[in-house]
Amino acid sequence: MAKYEPNQRIKFAYKLEGWTYENGSQSELKRTGEKVLPSEYTQDMEGKIFCPACFTNLIRVPKEVDYFSNGRNAYFAHMWTYKHVKCELRVKRSEGKKFDTYEEAKKAIDDENLVIVSGFLQEKPQDPKNPAGVYDETPIEDINGPVSEVPIARHDGETFSLPSKITTVAGICRKFDENLYKYYFLPGRNNAVRLIDLLKDVRDVIEEDSTRRMYFGKIIRSYTPVENPAAHNMRMTELAGAPSVRDFYLKEEHGISSRKGINDETQERYVLMWGEIGTNGIGLCIEGLSWGEFALLPAQYNHLLDT
Ligand SMILES: [Zn+2]
Repeated sequence: MAKYEPNQRIKFAYKLEGWTYENGSQSELKRTGEKVLPSEYTQDMEGKIFCPACFTNLIRVPKEVDYFSNGRNAYFAHMWTYKHVKCELRVKRSEGKKFDTYEEAKKAIDDENLVIVSGFLQEKPQDPKNPAGVYDETPIEDINGPVSEVPIARHDGETFSLPSKITTVAGICRKFDENLYKYYFLPGRNNAVRLIDLLKDVRDVIEEDSTRRMYFGKIIRSYTPVENPAAHNMRMTELAGAPSVRDFYLKEEHGISSRKGINDETQERYVLMWGEIGTNGIGLCIEGLSWGEFALLPAQYNHLLDT
C-alpha cells in the first residue's frame, strides 16, 4: 500500500477495451471511453483504465474490493512502468504547462485540451428564439474572443497569438468532469493550468484577496433578508468556510441568483465563482459577480469536489 501515494486528484479513469497508450488515439479514448470512479472499479477492468490527464495505464488501490469501506477509500494510481511519462496529477499541485511551439498550442486548442479565456460574459446574450426567457438558463455556447498574445511558450518572454473564448462559469460546469483535466488560461494569469489545479475551495480562504480566481464553495443555506423579495433585493448564500472565518457568503441579487437556480431550498450544492474575496461584516464574501461569472454545479458532479 505504501508504494503508491494516495491520489485524490485522479477523479475518474477512462476505460476502453483494447486501447493502448502506445498506439491509441487520445481523442478517441476521451470520446468513446467510459468514465469509471475508483469505487466502481472491478477486477475485469485491469489493464483497460487510463489516466484522464496523461492517458497512461492506471491501477486501482486497493486492488481488491474493500467491502468494509464500500470502495470509498479506494483511489487510482499511476503505474511505475510509465514513470517516464510526465503527468501533473503525479505531483501535488502543478505550475502549469508550457508549449514549445505555436503549432503545439494551437493543436491543444483544436483538440479541446486548452482553452484561452479572455473574459466571462457580463450579460446574458439575447436568445433570438426566446427573447423574454429571463428564467430560462439555457446553456449558451462560448463566443469567440479576440486573438490574444498568450505567454505560454516554453521560451521565456515569447508569446503566441491564439484564439480566445469569452465564456461562462456555467459553461465550465457543463461536462465538468472532462473540463477538470483541460488547461485553462484565465484572464490576468500568466500560465495555462488544468482546471483541477485552478479551483480553490473557499474553505481554504482566510483573508481578503483582490486577485480574481476560480473559487468553489458548498452551500449551507440561502435566504433573502426580506420576505417576498424583488429581483434587486440581496440574496445571501452561505458557503462552508474556514474554521477561523466567522462566515462566508456569496452575495448576489435575488433575481440573478434565482436565474442560476439558487433559492431558499438550495443546500449541499456547489457553486463555482470567478471573483475576488471581500469582507462582509467580520466574515468574508464574494459579491458583485456578473451573469457569466458564477453557476451552480450540476448535482451529478458533487462527488468530484467532495473530499
Ligand atoms: Zn496521468
